This record gives sequence, C-alpha cells and structure tokens, in this order.
Amino acid sequence: MDYLPIFIQLRGAPAVVVGGGNVALRKVDVLLKAGARVTVIAPKLHDELRAMAVRGQLDYVALEFHPHHLDGTSLVIAATDSRTVNAAVSAAAQARRLPINVVDDPELSTFIFPAIIDRSPVVVAVGSSGNSPVLARRVRQQIEALLPARLGALARFVGDRRKDVQKALPPEHRRPFWERIIGGIVGTRVLAGDETEASAKFLDELAATNRLPEPADLGTPNPEGSGEEARLGEVYLIGAGPGDPDLLTLRAVQLLQQADVILYDRLVSDAVLDRARRDAQRVFVGKETGGDHHATQARIHELLVQYAKRGLRVARLKGGDPFIFGRGGEEIEALNAAGVPYVVVPGITAALGAAASASIPLTHRRLAQSVTFAAGHALDDDTLDWRSLGLPHHTVVFYMGVAQMPRIVTRLKEAGASPDHPAALIERGSLADQRVLRGTLGTIVELARIHDVQPPALLIVGEVASLAKGDNELIAAVEAAPHAPVAG
Ligand code: SAH
Repeated sequence: MDYLPIFIQLRGAPAVVVGGGNVALRKVDVLLKAGARVTVIAPKLHDELRAMAVRGQLDYVALEFHPHHLDGTSLVIAATDSRTVNAAVSAAAQARRLPINVVDDPELSTFIFPAIIDRSPVVVAVGSSGNSPVLARRVRQQIEALLPARLGALARFVGDRRKDVQKALPPEHRRPFWERIIGGIVGTRVLAGDETEASAKFLDELAATNRLPEPADLGTPNPEGSGEEARLGEVYLIGAGPGDPDLLTLRAVQLLQQADVILYDRLVSDAVLDRARRDAQRVFVGKETGGDHHATQARIHELLVQYAKRGLRVARLKGGDPFIFGRGGEEIEALNAAGVPYVVVPGITAALGAAASASIPLTHRRLAQSVTFAAGHALDDDTLDWRSLGLPHHTVVFYMGVAQMPRIVTRLKEAGASPDHPAALIERGSLADQRVLRGTLGTIVELARIHDVQPPALLIVGEVASLAKGDNELIAAVEAAPHAPVAG
C-alpha cells in the first residue's frame, strides 16, 4: 500500500490553497464541503472564487505566494500552473510538516485526493496511488452504480439509534442485529424512502432480538423456534427487463445482490441471473407450456410466503415489468393476505425493450398519438376494442401473440384495418439473437411462418411499425418475400 487512506476531520480547521484558477476552485469546493476555513493565495482570482470571497465563504490574499502564508494553517494545496511556484509551496509546507497536495503532481505531494462518492455520512474514496486518476474515477463510477441513492439516509437512521441499541442489547448480539437491520426489511424501507415503516419494523426487530436466548444458551433447543426462524423476511418483486442484463435498474441489481433466494421465470435470462448474489439459492418457477398454470401460480404464492416466513429475503424475478402481464398483481394480493412485506421494482417491459432495439418509436408526433399494450391470447372474450386498435395514428403491441397471430390479424381486418397497415414482429427483443420482421397486416402472418418465429415475440401494429430496423439481411429478405394471401 503506497498510501494510507484516512478520513480527516476538517470542520473549522484552517487550510491554504495557492492558486486562483479553475483547478483551485475545484479543490476549494471539496475543502468547503468538509467544513474547512479556506484561504486562497493568488495574485489573480477566478470569477467564481472572487464571488465566494465576496460572500465571505473564503479569505482571499491577493499576493504572490510567500512561505509565511502557511503559518498557522493545517493543510496546504498548490494549484498554480507554475511548477516552480508549486515546488516552492511544497518545500515550505514540508519544512513546516504540513500535509501538502500539489494537484496532478504526486512527487511534490505528501497526500493525494481520491475520487469521492459522497453519500454523506457515507463517503467512499477510491485512489490509484497517483498512477491514474482517470482509472480511479472509472472505478468510482462503477461503485457508484451499486450504491443506493439513500445510503446516507440509512447511515443516519442507524446512527440515530446506535446508543439505544447499545443500551438494549449485549455486545455479542449487536453486530448480527445491525446486519439484519441494514441488510433486511428495515434497510429496504429506508432506502425506498419510507422511514415511518422502517422505524416500526426496527422496533419489532429490536423487541424480537431482546427475546433471543442468551448466547450461552444458543446450543439448547428453543421450543418457540430459534428466534431467527420467527423473524419475518420480505419479498422483492423485481422486473428483470427484456433480457439484456444492462437493462436492469440499479435498484434491481442492488436487491439481487442481497437476496437469499431467487424465484425466477422462464423469461429471465441467464445473463440477468448472473447479476445476482452468487450464493443465493435459485429456484425455477416457470410455467411450462401446456402445464396447469393455475396450480403453478398457487404454488409460487405458497413458496413466496413460506420463504419469507422463514426470515429470508426473497427476490421474485420476472421478465419485463412485474405489473405488465406478469401476474404481479396476484402475487402482491397473496403477500398482502399473508402479511408478508414486499417492495416492487419496475422493469423495462418487453414492448419498450423491443421497440428500442428495433428502432420503433411507439408514439410519434406524425404517426401515433396513443399506444395500447394488449394480451394476444385474450381473443375470445370481447374485452378488446378491435376497431380502435386498428385505427390510423394508434400503435398496439400484442404480447403473447405468436400462436394467435393469424386470428389477431383477422380480427383487426374484420374491424376495418387496411391490409396495408404496417406491422412488425420482434422475436427475442434486446437479446443477441433478436430478429425483426417488418411487413403489413397483409403479409406479416406469412412472413412469420416463413421465418418460423417463436415465442417470446411481440407484434407491433401501427404506422410506426414501418420504421422497424433490425438485422438488415432479414429485413431485406422480408421485403423480397411474396405478398402471400393470409389464411384465416
Ligand atoms: N411481464 C412481461 C411480459 C410477460 S408476458 C413484460 O413486462 O415484458 C410474456 C410475453 O412477453 C411473451 O409472450 C412475449 O410476447 C413478450 N416478451 C417477453 N420478453 C420478450 C422479448 N425479449 N422479446 C419479445 N417479446 C418478449
């Protein structure tokens, strides 16, 4: 380790910045954030620094640097564009044993600035020991994506309760207790912005921990269960998006990283599962085609409740968005009925993912003012208004429609849509092997047959479908295909 990362308390401490330009401004900003009393030494001053001086946020000395400017200070930064001046500042600081940073010059520095992620009071510092600030910033970006926006709130929530917990719990119980708080239901609630619920759950958890047997007794069986078992877990109902793992939301990844068990569907890709905690238990609960869907769904509800009641954090991972043709509504009804807490994390629904990767704007100022997401298998009940779905300037996206496509097209045409009305079919949208077929109501069924389109696929009908782009060769083939009469 070339440098020791430490966090210095600078509130109210004097600090000197030599230099009055842009670089100096950036350093003054961080020092002020840390609460330092900043003096800037420079013959000329950046406008913004001048404004700060006028507002009394910093002291300004309009002079060339002189070593006595460092008398009585606690930390020095040199940010001039002259290496000679910077070297003089460095020598003067080191003679006084003051920590000195010369911007972009580790040789003249006794400390360097890390790249900072500020979720105060949580602060993450990343350094490359001066080798590559750019690399350190990249690492910071990658870490930043994993840290919830409300991390600071969680730290404050815990900080506010530390003393109470110290009083209430013996030392051996405290760490496991905090791990359950931060990684469990209380943490999820704070991170979701619901501190009222979080406080209530916190008190429940504290009361439950107080009832735990003393550590010395842990080996003896407890007729009421170990206390661990009695504790309630929770369910994360997570939308996994259309398949490309980079289309997961940040919150989805954060929760997948902490879940103990993951219940996933057939539409959830391996690449998405790879983003989950490695040692999480994975349970496939997909509905096999032709199976008894009702029984499978009831079994899923049962599993969700059972796992949560064992105190586990259960990720229920669904393709696309959980509330778009995902039976997420039924699952939260079951959780509500069983008193199991849950959070819902939206996902990019297939229509949005496939439209993006096929370059089909679902609405468009000239071509479509409205859009409908429809279930393609709900053909027999007359809940869909076929006439309005086929109107010009409207887009309709059919989910689950591959097998039913001939009937969908027939119904649209019977209701008045023109055979020239554009249609596109997107198979495995957003995945590496996605295929896009572009045609019309008159041609799309035959095209799908020729190219043997398989689920999962979406049918998009409306003028915007004429803009579909995809695998160029395939689209060319489609355009060359004969306009065969459509059966049915
Ligand atoms: N909750 C999911 C939809 C589940 S219904 C969502 O919000 O996306 C399943 C249907 O979604 C499939 O039959 C198919 O029509 C569509 N679908 C899911 N993933 C898809 C993908 N990658 N490409 C095209 N269609 C997809």
